Amino acid sequence: MTDLPVQKNEYYDVTVQDLTHDGAGVAKIDGFPIFIQNALPDEEVKIKIIKLKKGYGFGRLEEIYKPSPYRVEAPCPIYKQCGGCQLQHLSYEGQLIAKQKQVKGVLERIGHLKEVPVYPVLGMEDNPWRYRNKAQVPIGEREGGLIAGFYQQRSHEIIDMKECLIQQEINDTVVQTVREICDKYGVRAYNEKTHKGTLRHVMARYGLVTGEVMVVLISRTPDIPNRKAIVEEIATTLPQVKSVVQNVNTKKTNVIFGDETRVLWGNEYIYDYIGDIKFAISARSFYQVNPDQTKVLYEKALEYAGLTGEESVIDAYCGIGTISLFLAQKARKVFGVEIVPEAIEDAKRNAALNEIKNAEFSVGEAEVVIPKWYKEGNTADVLVVDPPRKGCDEALLQTIIEMKPKKVVYVSCNPATLARDLRVLEDGGYKTIEVQPVDMFPHTVHVECCALLEINQSENL
Ligand code: SAH
Repeated sequence: MTDLPVQKNEYYDVTVQDLTHDGAGVAKIDGFPIFIQNALPDEEVKIKIIKLKKGYGFGRLEEIYKPSPYRVEAPCPIYKQCGGCQLQHLSYEGQLIAKQKQVKGVLERIGHLKEVPVYPVLGMEDNPWRYRNKAQVPIGEREGGLIAGFYQQRSHEIIDMKECLIQQEINDTVVQTVREICDKYGVRAYNEKTHKGTLRHVMARYGLVTGEVMVVLISRTPDIPNRKAIVEEIATTLPQVKSVVQNVNTKKTNVIFGDETRVLWGNEYIYDYIGDIKFAISARSFYQVNPDQTKVLYEKALEYAGLTGEESVIDAYCGIGTISLFLAQKARKVFGVEIVPEAIEDAKRNAALNEIKNAEFSVGEAEVVIPKWYKEGNTADVLVVDPPRKGCDEALLQTIIEMKPKKVVYVSCNPATLARDLRVLEDGGYKTIEVQPVDMFPHTVHVECCALLEINQSENL
């Protein structure tokens, strides 16, 4: 690699230009990009080249000559070991600026959408900490006692953690209390290497509005020693707990949940509200982790849908019907589609719980079900999509282009696939009116977006 403009183990002074989608700083030496962990845009820094690849390299931050005005001391003591957050060294204001820039950049690069307005990110107004309503904590052992913590970055070593600053405080308390109780009754932690031991993970989920808590014990074996005593003690020590559930995962895998779930104590669900809508959330249901910002995101989706009460709406990738039920309040009819059968059962139950009668839910792949509906002559005035990170399937995009709903509202957790899909829809006759990023995951690199597309008027003639 002698023809590269940089040498391994050499030191260079550089100015950081940008931030990657995973939060590293980027600088260029004679046009050759170098990624630098923990460096921020506009910083002048000294780096040591630690790794070189064909088209790029990695530098270690050695010294900061001129720090970014947005640089702050990361408040979490385990920030560097954990890796759950990537942007704690950037002030919250700086994070929001960086996320807006990231979305804008990706839309331009991948979607060739230079003109589309990307608004400033809607961040958390009061306190961008302690927002997560769900904790899934691996259990390990140290000196014979149970520890609840996190996997050290790029390893399977569990590090003890008493609190997580982006977690609701109650979840920290619940996890630690459950760990102590299990320890007291002699439960052993699951050991990945030997595939022995019992307790793999503890999950705590908190209904922010209702104050209800669910505890899920994820075990390797169907039996947990002293289960009855443990569950009783959890229920009496933690009055907010309304449900204790066990999930059995017998497999040698790093997937958290297994196939068998049973209620040990209390209800099968806890309840929560987003806006006026009440949701029953079971142990395995997908439910957004930042409920305050979920409301902001869904209100944006509702605003973009521009409903008057007359519209027929399709909500693709509907999960447990969260967006569908939000939209149903203002639409004539909403049809939700989702691939996971249990989620559709939840969606139907949630519709009934809120006495919403104009929402119907179907199980299946959006890219199969919606084309089928279209062939049968069923169309929609507004189509909402909220796909997983890989974005929409090509077949779904083609059906949208043929079906021509007046508006498409695209909710996305991955700006890169959003940009790719917007390009397809633009080429098919849609115009991207605007994109509103929403910060659902402060201190991490993730950013959620809501985009509004309208069918080009000229195409309609
Ligand atoms: N709109 C919901 C869920 C969004 S997450 C909410 O905000 O809560 C994306 C959802 O898409 C998941 O529930 C996932 O199970 C579902 N999904 C993934 N692939 C799918 C496909 N091909 N067709 C339909 N749904 C799919």
